[in-house]
Amino acid sequence: MKPAKSIVLIVDDQPLNIQMLAQALGAEYLVKAATSGRAALKICQMADKPDLILLDVIMPEMDGHEVCRLLKNDPATKDIPIIFITAKNEAPDEEFGFKIGAVDYIAKPFSPVIVQARVRTHLTLKRNIDLLESLAFLDGLTGIPNRRRFDRELPGEWNRAVRGQTPLSLLIADVDYFKKYNDHYGHGPGDDCLREIAGAINSSVQRTGDLVARYGGEEFVVLLPVTDGRGVCQVAGRIQEKIASLRIPHAHSQVAPHITISLGGFSLVPSPDIPPALLLQSADKLLYQAKQSGRNRLLYASHWEPAAQLQLGATHGP
Ligand code: GH3
Ligand code: MG
Ligand code: MG
Repeated sequence: MKPAKSIVLIVDDQPLNIQMLAQALGAEYLVKAATSGRAALKICQMADKPDLILLDVIMPEMDGHEVCRLLKNDPATKDIPIIFITAKNEAPDEEFGFKIGAVDYIAKPFSPVIVQARVRTHLTLKRNIDLLESLAFLDGLTGIPNRRRFDRELPGEWNRAVRGQTPLSLLIADVDYFKKYNDHYGHGPGDDCLREIAGAINSSVQRTGDLVARYGGEEFVVLLPVTDGRGVCQVAGRIQEKIASLRIPHAHSQVAPHITISLGGFSLVPSPDIPPALLLQSADKLLYQAKQSGRNRLLYASHWEPAAQLQLGATHGP
């Protein structure tokens, strides 16, 4: 669990400087210290990453600029704000610090009050940015990831699958006759229904890399890395069963007396010459066919298998 106090890492080869900074910050934050660049990098790889780093520039072996560059190049540490704190305080030094990604610059000898104020400002900014970012990638109605999040994750998963030559699968689910549901029961119950469906789909995926997102109005996507046709059909079967077991009455559905969904599923082992959008287009085409051929079913295909149809309740692959 993340400790409640923010973690501030102080990096300086002079223990006396560390001591003075720790004195200024110790009451408000959990202070960690490193006397070399290498030790600082190691601390930044630990589970409880620092929330902010005060970084000395002049250090033997690896200087602060190099530490900053390495941290900014690593996706796991690139967002940790870095404040340089140094006696090298000519304008070009300061400019260089900002250029390589620092958020602020404090001159030595430092005033403890100024250090406290700047650290507080940058920690608050970072916390707000993190909060906004997490909200920007969540769907307001259902609380699950939104389309923006899916669009952000897809290229990375695609590239990982290209590198590892592993299968990548996608399911698109769309609620059947949902317009009629809204027209009959009202928009509020319609929203409640979407929340329940999101929960059912979300609880049907088990691996940490799997991503469920609300893609549009009553449309959901499930991205399944390292998953082939067999896996996709298993997941789709679980989703269909969970939604059926919700038993949400739908008096105006033409396929069942309760809410159902149709699914399009597609798997492939991607190669660099195909665009990631192919996965979406293929799954979407299959969803369309699932609707055309009667709804409440999965239509699945892969690069290596022809399209196959599964009726509700099917739990294994074609
Ligand atoms: P089909 O079986 O072919 O998918 O028919 P459908 O009626 O589900 O599809 P259509 O695309 O015609 O209508 C989708 C409806 O979903 C339109 C709208 O009433 C409803 N909808 C979309 N977004 C929301 C939402 O956020 N809340 C609610 N309550 N309804 C929504
Ligand atoms: Mg629909
Ligand atoms: Mg739709």
